[in-house]
Amino acid sequence: KRENTLSVEELYEGILKGERTILARAITLIESNAEHHFQKAQELLTKLLPHAGKALRIGITGVPGAGKSTFIEAFGTYLCGLGLKVAVLAVDPSSSVTGGSILGDKTRMEELARNPKAFIRPSPSSGKLGGVHRKTRETMLVCEAAGFDVILVETVGVGQSEVLVREMVDFFMLLVLTGAGDELQGMKKGIMELADGIFVNKADGDNKPFAEKTKREYNQVLHFLQPATKGWETKAYTCSALFHEGIDRVWETVKAFDENTKRTGIFEERRRKQTKEWMRSMILDQLQFSFFNHPAVKELLPKFENEVMAGNRTVSSAIDSLFQHYFQEQNE
Ligand code: GDP
Repeated sequence: KRENTLSVEELYEGILKGERTILARAITLIESNAEHHFQKAQELLTKLLPHAGKALRIGITGVPGAGKSTFIEAFGTYLCGLGLKVAVLAVDPSSSVTGGSILGDKTRMEELARNPKAFIRPSPSSGKLGGVHRKTRETMLVCEAAGFDVILVETVGVGQSEVLVREMVDFFMLLVLTGAGDELQGMKKGIMELADGIFVNKADGDNKPFAEKTKREYNQVLHFLQPATKGWETKAYTCSALFHEGIDRVWETVKAFDENTKRTGIFEERRRKQTKEWMRSMILDQLQFSFFNHPAVKELLPKFENEVMAGNRTVSSAIDSLFQHYFQEQNE
């Protein structure tokens, strides 16, 4: 309950000064599923908006074991060494209101967590009012207002969460492993088409030549794919997160991307589109929530589902009836 004791003004001032404890409390407010916290958070965000947007937003995905946390530890520490302030956020599609997350365990990124220039926040749980997407986006804005230069958004490569993260970052990178030959055949080309850079990790020791080979294979496939970003050629590279090799090249690539897309206007165009899409998805979320939590819908839906499955009612007539109930009581 402590976050309630700070006013919007106090939170605002503290965030602009970059005070960690206040930043953390503001994020807790944003992540809350309580209606009155939602209103207070929106008030705060409205004030912070003019101070947000200046960071470079980087999304990182890869299958479990690809080395994401090892990479973020190495990359984040490298960026801090350059004098940059780095915030690490996570989008964990498995997290629920009851907790339990694949990404959230505490032993990860210990070195980075101790760095005074870094800030690490585990994935929010989903819930009503826009869920993980809204919470992560809004947390990103608060971190930007607090002066972070780079925001790293990590997600597990298991499906739709990549698309979610792609929609909130500027540069999206895919961390992969060697032996991609078979994997490439079956790999969802869709994910490769989201990436601005593909990094073959664990390019160290005996694995190095295989990593080089994998890199070439990826480059061959990339040649035939639609680029994720207009005017930018997505390429594959090797790196070793564990031995801190090729980490500087990752940053070179991101910086070249930043320079290129800002020069051509693609950067701004994408951010504008992302904001618009975000609004659309928030509307869909709210509609869905409002519909499925409507008392009449809640009551009738299981009954209609049974009737539809038994073949006693058409899907269209069930939906028609549900919406009639929804709008009737909505207008009362
Ligand atoms: P995540 O599940 O994607 O976050 O992967 P982790 O960062 O937890 O790494 C999975 C395992 O791979 C750990 O045992 C790491 O030590 C190891 N690992 C990560 N990066 C490298 C690397 O560059 N080289 C080698 N040899 N091992 C690595």
